[in-house]
Amino acid sequence: MQAWPHVIPPRGRVAYVNGHYVRHGQAQAHIEDRGLQFGDAVYEVCAVEDGCLRDEEEHLDRLERSTREIELAMPMSRAALKLVFRELVRRNRVKTGLLYLQVTRGAAHRDHPIPANGPRPTLILTAHSLDPNAIAKRRAEGISVITRPDERWARRDIKTTQLLPNLIAKTAERRAGAYEAVLVDKEGTVTEGSSTNTWIVDKEGRLITRALSNDILPGVTRRVILEAAADAQLAVIERGFAPEEAYAAREAFISSATGIYPVIAIDGHRVGEGAPGPVTRRVQELYASKSAMRAGAADRPR
Ligand code: PLP
Repeated sequence: MQAWPHVIPPRGRVAYVNGHYVRHGQAQAHIEDRGLQFGDAVYEVCAVEDGCLRDEEEHLDRLERSTREIELAMPMSRAALKLVFRELVRRNRVKTGLLYLQVTRGAAHRDHPIPANGPRPTLILTAHSLDPNAIAKRRAEGISVITRPDERWARRDIKTTQLLPNLIAKTAERRAGAYEAVLVDKEGTVTEGSSTNTWIVDKEGRLITRALSNDILPGVTRRVILEAAADAQLAVIERGFAPEEAYAAREAFISSATGIYPVIAIDGHRVGEGAPGPVTRRVQELYASKSAMRAGAADRPR
């Protein structure tokens, strides 16, 4: 078996494919896999911090929802998935990083309709380390973003691997020297980032973020922030906002499994003081303690 020439994993990386732990460079799926042929697949990305999975239950909840929405069977039980998660993180020696999971509808003769008696789903997992210093720097110093038209399909609430519009937006953002592309719908309202949820802080110090609907991904980090904000009696309004409102906001930030990052500039407009603000800092702290509390609870034997 020949390793993929363009994938150069660090030595010793291990992937999980359909029940097997395999060397990352030699992990393979079938050419007629519907994930490859049609993007007939859903995925999850879960952060690893101090070797523990962040918000694991919430990621599993969303995976179950995504599979349900596209009539795809879960590849194994939650308990079995959790064992694979831990084993893969352990085998890859990840302390700070990401766990990636993809479930496709499996390999079948290429035909568009969803097969009635579907093939066995394909389950793929990888785990890799991230530079904790780079994450800490973005958290502390903030990032700049650009806005782009939202050109995605109408079911953005499902976490599918069909990410071409997101990739195009991300490419534009990187070429502009920014960290995220904030997507704007035809009505001129921000939906979310290309891989994050978006938030602003108004003059009264309230958090504003778009309400859940088919228009945005129900971010796990968003969900935990909302719970933490409710506990701390921090006011939140779930509504859309235009880029102009964001330019003039007191603070702004984005959220995803990779972190809560202060936004200090949007389309070249300085946000607030042009530095991370106190409300964003508070949200980062509230999220960190809520999420750490849960990680502790999940890791305790039951
Ligand atoms: N919105 C989009 C389009 C995303 O791709 C992501 C994460 O990948 C998010 C929001 C944030 O979701 P989460 O907090 O679950 O990482």
